Amino acid sequence: MSLPEMERIEALLPQWVEESRQQCSYGKVASYIPELSKSPIGALGIHLINSKGYSVSAGDTKLSFTMQSISKVFTLILALMDNGEEAVFDKVGMEPTGDNFNSMLKLELVQPGIPFNPLINAGAIAISSLIAGKDPKEKSGRVLEFMRLLSNNQALDYDLDVYRSESATANLNRSMAYFLKDNGVLQGEVEDVLDVYFRHCSIRITCAELAQMALVLAHNGINPLTGEELIPRRYVQIAKTFMTTCGMYNASGEFAIQVGLPAKSGVSGGILTLVPGRYGIGLIGPSLNRKGNSIAGVALLETLSQEFDWSLF
Ligand code: GLN
Repeated sequence: MSLPEMERIEALLPQWVEESRQQCSYGKVASYIPELSKSPIGALGIHLINSKGYSVSAGDTKLSFTMQSISKVFTLILALMDNGEEAVFDKVGMEPTGDNFNSMLKLELVQPGIPFNPLINAGAIAISSLIAGKDPKEKSGRVLEFMRLLSNNQALDYDLDVYRSESATANLNRSMAYFLKDNGVLQGEVEDVLDVYFRHCSIRITCAELAQMALVLAHNGINPLTGEELIPRRYVQIAKTFMTTCGMYNASGEFAIQVGLPAKSGVSGGILTLVPGRYGIGLIGPSLNRKGNSIAGVALLETLSQEFDWSLF
């Protein structure tokens, strides 16, 4: 009789991490946010947690890193909880772009000024302006509290070096935000909205905490360890759909074919993914491929998904 899957994962994971780690030398760490260029290029770590709270991890899981674009999944959910679907989709679309995450190319196409989806930079900046709160401080505070609740770590906080580094160099994001403001997509002052955005991108996290957040999505908004509903099911459905169609930038189609799971990556090299009803998964591998996804992380997820037949498709 074959071993239960979690035991097989536990037995095989260290070897798969070392095999995938070989890919790191073919990628690059992000450097357009200067502070991120200090990330360890050869690192790779992964943490899985199942519905009973049993965890397996391998590789460099002690490493902490900033959420970057992974945070966009949760600001989208919070904006939906604050405003409802209609108000949110008045400001952002539902379609993948096929372009880079920071591309401005399509902002002027189709529906003038409305970003294609909430997971590209322009869309996530528009979402930041929809977070409820009387000022940027309160909005950012609410986002941080939401991340703390979902990750089950009250100590989660910003990496202020990364925050300042991004804020000081974000000419492209700034230009997009001004464009959005001019088109009536952004509410409030541009710099205030950007501050909320840079702060949520700079929240420092570990693989175990990402896995815990993913576990809630894997259970449609319920923390299976406590039975508590943290997110309405409908909003998790929306978030997981965007993760599947746009979560891995303009490599989302390839990732859907090779791995077949909802996922979201960030330029720090983090990936959050999940196996519905079963596992939350957090991963870090700062060396990125040409599309901006963790090169070794994607390889490792391909191995896992193919070995255990996890693809949803
Ligand atoms: N903070 C980053 C940016 O705006 C997030 C991008 C990403 O992780 N893809 O450029």
